[in-house]
Parts: sequence; C-alpha cells; structure tokens
Amino acid sequence: MNAFDLGKFEQETQEQWTHAFESNPSNLEKCYLTVAYPYPSGAMHVGHGRTYIVPDVIARFWRMRGKQVLYPMAFHVTGAPVIGISKRIANNDPKTIHLYRDLYKVPQNVLDEFTDPLTIVRHFAGEYQRVMTACGISIDWRRRFTTVDPTYSKFIEWQWKHLYDAGHVIKGAHPVRYCTVDDNPVGDHDLLEGDKAEVIKFTLIMFRYGDAFIPTATLRPETIYGVTNLWANPGVTYVRALVDGSAWIISQEAAEKLALQDHIVKVQEEIAGQDLIDKTVSHPLCGKVPILPADFVDPDMASGLVMSVPAHAPFDYIALRDLQRAGKYTQIKPVPLIKVKGYGEIPAQDAVEKAGITDQMDSRMDTLTQEIYSAEFAEGKLFDRYGGKPVRVAREDIAALMIEMYASKIMYEFDTRPVICRCGNKVKVKILHDQWFLKYSDPAWKKQVSEHLGNMALVPPEVRLEFDRTVDWLKDWACTRRVGLGTRFPWDTTQLIEPLSDSTIYMAYYTIAHKIREINARLLTPEVFDYIFLGKESPDLPEKKKLEDMRDEFLYWYPYNYRFSAKDLISNHLTFQLFHHVTIFPKDKLPQGMVVFGMGLLNGAKMSSSKGNVFLLEDAVSDFGADTVRMFLMGSAEPWQDFDWRNELVISTKKQIERFFNTVLESKDADGEPHDIDRWLISRLQSHIERTTEALTNFQTRQALQEAYFGIETDLKWYRRRLAENSDGSRELHILCSAWIRLLAPFIPFTGEHLWKELAGEGLVSFAPWPIANKKLVNTRIELAEELISRTVEDIESIRKLIQMTPKSITISVAPAWKHEIFLLIAKSNERNTVVKEIMKDDAMRKRGKEATDAAKQCTTLIHRLPPHVVEPLTREPINEIAVFEAAKKFLEKEFGVPVHITDAESSEHAKAATALPFKPAIFIE
Ligand SMILES: [Zn+2]
Repeated sequence: MNAFDLGKFEQETQEQWTHAFESNPSNLEKCYLTVAYPYPSGAMHVGHGRTYIVPDVIARFWRMRGKQVLYPMAFHVTGAPVIGISKRIANNDPKTIHLYRDLYKVPQNVLDEFTDPLTIVRHFAGEYQRVMTACGISIDWRRRFTTVDPTYSKFIEWQWKHLYDAGHVIKGAHPVRYCTVDDNPVGDHDLLEGDKAEVIKFTLIMFRYGDAFIPTATLRPETIYGVTNLWANPGVTYVRALVDGSAWIISQEAAEKLALQDHIVKVQEEIAGQDLIDKTVSHPLCGKVPILPADFVDPDMASGLVMSVPAHAPFDYIALRDLQRAGKYTQIKPVPLIKVKGYGEIPAQDAVEKAGITDQMDSRMDTLTQEIYSAEFAEGKLFDRYGGKPVRVAREDIAALMIEMYASKIMYEFDTRPVICRCGNKVKVKILHDQWFLKYSDPAWKKQVSEHLGNMALVPPEVRLEFDRTVDWLKDWACTRRVGLGTRFPWDTTQLIEPLSDSTIYMAYYTIAHKIREINARLLTPEVFDYIFLGKESPDLPEKKKLEDMRDEFLYWYPYNYRFSAKDLISNHLTFQLFHHVTIFPKDKLPQGMVVFGMGLLNGAKMSSSKGNVFLLEDAVSDFGADTVRMFLMGSAEPWQDFDWRNELVISTKKQIERFFNTVLESKDADGEPHDIDRWLISRLQSHIERTTEALTNFQTRQALQEAYFGIETDLKWYRRRLAENSDGSRELHILCSAWIRLLAPFIPFTGEHLWKELAGEGLVSFAPWPIANKKLVNTRIELAEELISRTVEDIESIRKLIQMTPKSITISVAPAWKHEIFLLIAKSNERNTVVKEIMKDDAMRKRGKEATDAAKQCTTLIHRLPPHVVEPLTREPINEIAVFEAAKKFLEKEFGVPVHITDAESSEHAKAATALPFKPAIFIE
C-alpha cells in the first residue's frame, strides 16, 4: 500500500511544487545562487545534471535554514553553433541527424523544423526546463529568458555603453581563430577540438631558391647560423605562388593561410615535393645548404617546409642521423652556435644520446625538445663569432634583422593541432581588420579585477591560483562576430556581440527578468537601466512605478552570493564576468563567491556529446528515479572532484534510498518508553546534525551525505541490536525520523516530501525548518558507554573467529584503577613520551616496577589508536566500566548465546587478566 515507488513520489510532489520556488523580496535574509546558463542545442546528460543539482541542494539547504533563496535559470542562445547545426540538418548530414534523432531522441516531425536555428534552441530550452523540473531542481521559472529577447538585447546595449565609455572596447587588427566555411571568428564554444591551442607568431626565414624564395617558419630565428639543410616532404605537392608579387615555394595549405594574413597570394603552378629533394637553397647568414627528404614535414604546419638545425633541435638531429645510418648525406655535420650549461658541445646530440633515444617515433622527443629550448632560452649564449649575446636577446635582434634586411615575414599559426570548428572545418588564423576587442590586456582593468578577486570566496580554495593566472595572461578578446544570433554591436550594426561577451552580467538581469518584459523594449533606453541598476535619476523615465519596483528587487537580491560553474570556464566566462562587473557595478554589488566543479566521467571516460559518450539525464531519471540520480551525483564525489557515472553504483544508491524509506516507515510510530539507548541515539543525532550542517555550509555534498545518511543508518543498526527483545523502540524514534527526513530532503526531496506527509509534518518539507543541534541532548557518558560496549563486542567477535571452539562462557575483565590513572595522565599530557618518567616518580607506581612501565607503554599505544572523540571526553569524565558491562550483560548474553561474567582484572586469577587496559578489557572465551 505504501510501497517504495520513486515515480509515484515524483508525480504527487510535482503538483505541489508548481509555484513553490518562486521567490520574492521579503524581510528574510536573502541568498542568491546562480549557475552558468546552458546553451540549449542538445539534450541534457547526467554531467549537466550535476551542474544544476549541486546548487539546488545548496539552495534547498539555505531555504530550510530560513533564508529567502533565489535560484533562477535562463537560456543562452547567442552565437553561431546552432546555425551550423541547422545547416547540417538541412543538408541531411548523417552524423548530425544521427546525433539528434537517435541520441537526443528528437521526434522526426520536430527534427524537420530544425532547419530554423531558433526552433532548435526553443525546443531544447523547453526540454531543459522539463528535465530540470523532473530532477526536482527548485528554480523560479518566472524569471526564465533567452539571450535573444528584445528586452535582453536592450540590457546588453546598456552594458556595452558602459564598457565603451570606460575605454574597454577598442578597434584594431588582430590574428584570430577563423573558420572559412562559416566565414566567422571561432570562439571557445565553437570548437570541436583544439580549445587549448594558442596563436603563435613565427618568423619566416626566406631561403633563396633560384628566382624564388622557400620560407621556413621558426620560433628560433637565431639558429639560422646552425642550419645544415632544409626538410621537404617528398610525398607532398607544393605550389609556386606569387606572394605580394614575389615567388614563394610553399604548401597548398600555407598558400591559403597566408591569404588570410594580409598577403595577396596567387598560386602559379604545382611542384612535386620529390623534385625539391637534393636541390640547393641559400641564405646570407648560413650559406648554401641542400634540401633533404623527411616524411615528418607536415604541409599543414606553417609554410610546409622546415629548416634543420641538428646541433640544437633533437628532431633534426635524429632525422639526419637516420639518413646517415642509411649511408646518405654523411658529409653533413651538425653546426653548433649556442653554449649552454649542462650540455655538451652539440646539445641535441648530447640529450638524445643520454636519453637513449633510438628513432623519431620515441615519445620523449617532445619533452627533450622543450628541455633544450627552455635551457637555451634561459641560460644559453651565442658563440662569440655570432655576436656572443644571450639567446633571449639575440632572438629578438635577429628576428628584427631578418625582417629588415633579409625579406623575412611574420606568419601566425597554432601551437598545437588539430583545431577543428564545430562545423568540422579546420580552423585557421586570420588577421582581422576593423575588429572590435574587449581590452582585457589593460593592466589597470586587470588590477581592478585582481583586487576584487582577493575579496571573493572561492571554492575550492586552490582554484584561486588559476583565476589569478587567467587575469594575468588574458589578452584582448575579439568580441564581435558576423554570423549568428545575438545583440547587434552598437558601433557597427553589421556585427553581433559574441556569446562569451553577452553573458557576463546577466545575473543582475535575473532580478528583474519577470518584470521588465511588461515594458515595451523600445522604451528601454540606457537611462532606464542606469536607474534600475545604478540608481541614477533622469527626467522622463517611462513607467516609473515599475522601474522603482525593479530597482527594489535588484537592491534586495544583488550581489549574487555564489556562482556555480564547471572548472573549464575559469579561463573565460568566470573571469570575464568579473571584468564586466567591476566596470559597471559599485563595490557593494560585486560578486561574492564562486564554486567550481570537476568534470563528469561515464564509465571512466570523459563525457562528450559529440563523441556519443553520454547518458541522458532524462533516461537516468526514468530508469533510476530523480532522487537516485541526485543522491548518486551528490554522494559519489565532492562538487569540485570529478565524478564517474556507473549504472551498477547508481542501482545501489537506489537501494539505499529504499532502506531509508522502509526504516522511517517502520520506526516513526514506535511508542515504547525511552531508555539509555534512546538517549544515546538522540545524543548521536546532534553531532550528525551539526556535521551535516557544517558540510553543506562548505558545499561538501558528499561529506554531508556521509553524515546524514550513513552516520544515522549505522546508529540505527546498533540501536536495534541493543533494544530489549520484543521492543520496537521508543517514541524518540519519531524525533529521529523527523530530523532524518529533513537532513536528507535537499538530496532526495521527492522521497522527503512523501515521508514528511507520512510523519504528518507541516507544509512542504522543502520549507520545513532545518534541524538544529541541541547541545543539551548530548550525553557523553552514554556515548562513551556504548562505544565501549560496541568495541568490546567487536573484539569478542574477532577472538571467536580465531579460536576454533564452541564457547561455553565469556569473561570480560576490566582494568584496575591504577591503570586508569596512568591512562588519564598520558591522555591529558601534551608530552606523551616524557610523561612516563613523570608517572614513575610516584612511589606507588615505582613499587609496581615493570608492570607499571609496561602499562604506560600499552596505554600510550592505545591512546594513539583510539579516536579523539573517545579519548578527549574520557579525560573529562572517566566511566565506571564494571557498571557499563553489568548493565549490558543481558545484551551480551543474547548476542553470544552463552553466560557472560564481568570481573575486575586485579581480582582475577586468569593469566590474561593482566592485559586489561582502560577502554579495552581483557576477554577470555572458555
Ligand atoms: Zn566552422
């Protein structure tokens, strides 16, 4: 009749929650929590689940603690990705169709409409709300908006006016990641692969080849003096191209890239790589050198040809050695040019031979290259005949000389590859002119952010370093795009504000989102927002009453208390939002804290929608129940740790909830008289309440569950064991159940609401008062007595396993008073090693001689082994062990099914009685 049925609990609860979490300003203290809003272009997986459930657990916790909690949600639909998706669906791209139809389970008739990008985001925004609601996430949905709402665009225009007025929006030329298929710069969110790749500036060294140049790209122009040859790939077809009017031999890919970087490129003819091999090139700084064959030369890296410096580059050294071992080019010798401490005359040869590297494929080659590069940069000096300058100086000088005297050019390229756009195209580096930037490189702006960061609560604390680093290295950010959805850029309306730049202060917009939509967007001038957010009066403000109401709402909720997000957003969004906040808002409205999450794994592998390695949140909820999903996600790791979803572990979580459910139903109506064991149960409950509260205050969801679930469950098991025969427990169990349901309600709110009704609790458990630990109910004496009994029971059990006989009786022999004295002296002493000497100064102890020193040693060991929560109260309140065991005699006899004798070790004639110690009696089984 009252069976455990999570689906049923969810259904009956949802009806009661419809408007329950809509939150308005009140006279309560506020708590405003926000999460990075989702980009709804696909279905939610269990990784997303954790992102929204952690703040929900925290929101529910503070709500029960009596705060006015706001947890809003909106949808970020700005940008180009969804346009790419709709194009691919329109083109019947099989991979995309498979993802949306089979993995995300979009019905065919809906999928047919996905040729319109807005339909995609609208569809999935609806899905997100539906699935978040199914998960029991306590959101105020009245405040939902999307980033293409006209009122939101007005808000963004206002934000940008302030950024512009502060001098943070600038125009210039800049190398950016670019997709030639989308004809658009590529943001972090638009990448399938290569999000760590940085744009690097190479110097092209121009080698003369007949009437043409062969350019090779390098980060180390000073090594020109050590060039022994060039490398060309005989399997590649190169081109001869006119670059700004002069003839270059480069790869086809390089020709395309150079055209994006301010060069006029005209391809004239193809040249087989094979035809370049063994030809000669020359450069004024190294003379004539041959072109040698090398398969490792990648036509998609810079110019597609490479200069070789075998004395200082391990790759070049090995490649040359391989050829020479085959008997070719044996006349070529490495030409060293840099002296560096710790390496021989030819550093690359030295390093390769020391490491015992046999060929180019060795996985240590990259590390070795990096080591030499760093050592030479930090401490290397050019030979005197090349000027004798330190490498770090020579590098700059020679690069400048190359450009001035020897026709060198700059080429931008990524440091790692591949870099792939969401559309599947390889991303290239393009120099954009008239590009708008946010000037994150501005030291004064950085300083403002750093100062504010210092005042913020960051969880976990170790992410502070990463934030500091990000603020340090942030460069100017291309903030507009030509293609996509979003707000038009006010100073060039052919452009749009890109997604990471229109999502930085929307936490303030939530506070008014449900009210501002009542005002026509055309009326929303910057003055309107200046009034709402900054309190600046101006004449002729429209709808003044509504604006005042919104101003009150903003003043009540802002600043937000905590922002939650995955850790991969530290390097962009989480830091950007601080830059924008410090520019626009006064000091008392700046963000107060951030909580950064770890990543989600599925069966040990990183979750990734594009790779199909995801488990949909909705499937998880229907397979296991929302409470199970929540408890698993909160219990398997702390929020900042990575978690690993494994179905078999999730099933055991569901069984735990069922055990909790059944235990509450069995216990809630007990009506026996309370005994010591009930006082013990309630005493223990106080510390579980205290520790759960502390853990949730610190966002430790896992620790909180350990206390609130496992801590109490273990106590109840012992409690039931200790009950007299035929007893179902006392009426105190009702109190325990009431607290237990409330402690777990933030984690498993559906089961919580159902049981709260069973207990005849008032209203919704979601708003019931959080239990408060009552110190008066803590009974140390009883807790110690039970600890002593349970430890002794464990000892008896392990002895019984060791001896191969059927016991006839058990004797428990407790330590004499003088051992208690020693125990106390040692436990209270700060100098546990010298205290023994002190004890032996006492006449009575000295008379006992070796017996006393042995006891002191044993007590020292025992004290180290016992947990502090036992030792510390024992020093304050020693217990009468004989009385404790006498009182538990019936229980012990029931447990072990034989007579139990309690004796004082000193009066016992048993040889083992001498081993009795305080809190560890001697045990004889006969
Ligand atoms: Zn693309």
